[in-house]
Amino acid sequence: MTDVERQAALDAIGAEVAACTRCRLHEGRTRAVPGEGTAATEAVFVGEGPGFNEDRQGRPFVGQAGSLLDELLASVLWSREEVFITNVVKCRPPGNRDPEPDEIAACAPYLTRQLEVLDPALVVTLGRFSMARFSPGARIGQVHGTFRAADAGSGAPKAMTFAMYHPAAALHQGSLKQTLFTDMQGVPAALTEARALRAADQAAGEAPATIAPVPSPVAPELLAVTPDPEAAPEAVREAVPDTTAEAGVEFDPTAQLGLF
Ligand code: SF4
Repeated sequence: MTDVERQAALDAIGAEVAACTRCRLHEGRTRAVPGEGTAATEAVFVGEGPGFNEDRQGRPFVGQAGSLLDELLASVLWSREEVFITNVVKCRPPGNRDPEPDEIAACAPYLTRQLEVLDPALVVTLGRFSMARFSPGARIGQVHGTFRAADAGSGAPKAMTFAMYHPAAALHQGSLKQTLFTDMQGVPAALTEARALRAADQAAGEAPATIAPVPSPVAPELLAVTPDPEAAPEAVREAVPDTTAEAGVEFDPTAQLGLF
């Protein structure tokens, strides 16, 4: 699929979202928020749902949380124009409450289709509802700042996923802001690792790769992991410990998206 075809497919999904009445959230929305960014990206950021400003503008991550996300991206020399940003639910829950399970389920096919179109190497989850889709059973206090293979049922079975707190959480709990910036420094290295794993999968003829647990960011010697085609597909890519913050890892400025 070309980038033009990808963009057309994303636009078509966005048009469906704008008219969607699959769940009760459509009743109170001003505008649905399908997501935005480039169809050519390797990295997708997934938040939880639109807030007040997003509902008004029909764009994801505007307002204070959006400004913080922009700062986080800039801290690793990325920008929102180089990634795709969306949410688990596309319409604002009233009063910014948490999305209900049936609302998340009703909206899930849209995110699945967006991921199928974009086929990202890396999905960065922002907040626990997004994390729950890509890393079911994980606890954000334990896995933030680490990456792992995305759950096969997430819609991005070939992607790696990197967990972060939601930027809005730092607006309520100031101490999380530094945590967010520290975790963000691991995202470019996670992308580098995700590229390497994807290349290894392709070299193995698309067979599922067996990857031992690896720390985040990635040691250079692990970038050339060779898949073991003999191994059981399900015995792959275990969760990894949160080593980023403790290790004081430096940001790798060479791990850029390379879109422009
Ligand atoms: S939240 Fe999703 S499923 Fe619910 S009305 Fe909006 S687009 Fe449709």
